[in-house]
Amino acid sequence: MQGDSTGRLLRHAAEHAIRYRSELASRPQRPLHGYPDALAAFDGPLPETGEFSETVIDDLAVRAEPGLNATTGARFFGWVIGGSHEVGVAADWLTSAWGQNAGNHHAMPSAAAAETVAARWLLELLDLPRESSVGFVTGATVANFVCLAAARGEVLRRADWDVEANGLFGAPPISVLIGDDAHTTVFSALQFLGLGHDRLIRVATDGQGRILPDDFARRAAQVRGPAIAILQAGQINTGGFDPFTDLVPIARRIGAWIHVDGAFGCWARAAASLSHFAEGLDTCDSWATDGHKWLQTPYDSGYAIVRDSEAHRRAMTIAASYLPTAGEGERDPSHFVPELSRRARGFATWAIIRHLGREGIAAMVERHCRVARLIADQLRSENAIVVLNDVMFNQVLVRFGADETDERGDDLTRATIARIQRDGAVFAGGAKWRGREVMRISVISWLIDEAAGMASAEAIIAGWRAVQRGT
Ligand SMILES: *Cc1c(COP(=O)(O)O)cnc(C)c1O
Repeated sequence: MQGDSTGRLLRHAAEHAIRYRSELASRPQRPLHGYPDALAAFDGPLPETGEFSETVIDDLAVRAEPGLNATTGARFFGWVIGGSHEVGVAADWLTSAWGQNAGNHHAMPSAAAAETVAARWLLELLDLPRESSVGFVTGATVANFVCLAAARGEVLRRADWDVEANGLFGAPPISVLIGDDAHTTVFSALQFLGLGHDRLIRVATDGQGRILPDDFARRAAQVRGPAIAILQAGQINTGGFDPFTDLVPIARRIGAWIHVDGAFGCWARAAASLSHFAEGLDTCDSWATDGHKWLQTPYDSGYAIVRDSEAHRRAMTIAASYLPTAGEGERDPSHFVPELSRRARGFATWAIIRHLGREGIAAMVERHCRVARLIADQLRSENAIVVLNDVMFNQVLVRFGADETDERGDDLTRATIARIQRDGAVFAGGAKWRGREVMRISVISWLIDEAAGMASAEAIIAGWRAVQRGT
């Protein structure tokens, strides 16, 4: 399949993508089909014979579209999901067309070079130590895993134990300090690393999910031997930041490796008016952040950033006689991630940073936080809508009912979320916060602006009024 038919096929796929994106604004901000219908659309016996390429792509689009969630719409506030910026999408198409395997720099020079430069740009944007190494991974889950693997290796190396060679059996125990409101994927990363998701020293947090320095100091004082402290920038529900300038000196006193989960919160450092939230973040040892949240790269894209690049490399290096080794000043992408063969994620990251520039990224992050405050103000002005968090960043936590303590609030909140999703003008999901049902609004898509924010607040209020009327 070369020549004319290739051109026709790829243009055809592009037409589907373009039409889908242009129709999104007038489509409900939710999937039209649930999982059972989506499954029925794709299901069928294993094909015995092949099918004409354009027919397959048409058929894929027809079957997939009703079950797609409108994550790239301007009124989508679910989870924390970036909007797949069109420049990233275009770069990602080329990435697939080029089919590069971003394993090593000799075989795929451009894939490796784009990562090298994008890595340097990321460190400048987030104002993190310039000597850090960056692994291009699937997301913050794996970034947390990679960073914590480097942490595990280094704190044990200092205790004369080579975990990369000898594993954990017989190793000195590692104490892991973690806040009570850390993201669930950090616990998963600890589980993957043999550190366990329960074998931890949990530290109390405040009403915004931020670690309390007194409790942190009290628990740190009990620690003997190798230690890792896990802090957070951007709590998934409240957007809260741990107080790094208070916590880092305490963690340093016990010689802990300090890791930060900053999946979206690290991006506060890209904007002058917000960087104070993340003050002191740069004095830590490793950082997990996402490309597919605030940077708007298409899925999947995350970054594992480690100050001690030797610890990073020791934890992840894959060596084999048939793989060339990196020389002085050269960087092999596979030395900083768990995979050997993988997608060349550096291209989309490079392209989006090049397109938006430092100023464009700062303006976007600031706009999102402004829109979050606007939505919160608008919702607060309505009778019996309560905003539960301090809206300083891009997250808004909402509860429906007379006040925070209203027992019927759980049912009313669930009913309002269902109503809003059914109406389809806005997408927001639910969660539990401090034992109560809440609606979460994450303002993070590049398409969201003040007008979309105001319209969304109106739609949420309309949904709430409909629930109150019982219509
Ligand atoms: C989204 C998120 C994660 C997980 O990131 P993925 O990109 O889904 O792997 C981890 N921590 C925080 C705080 C997050 O917001």
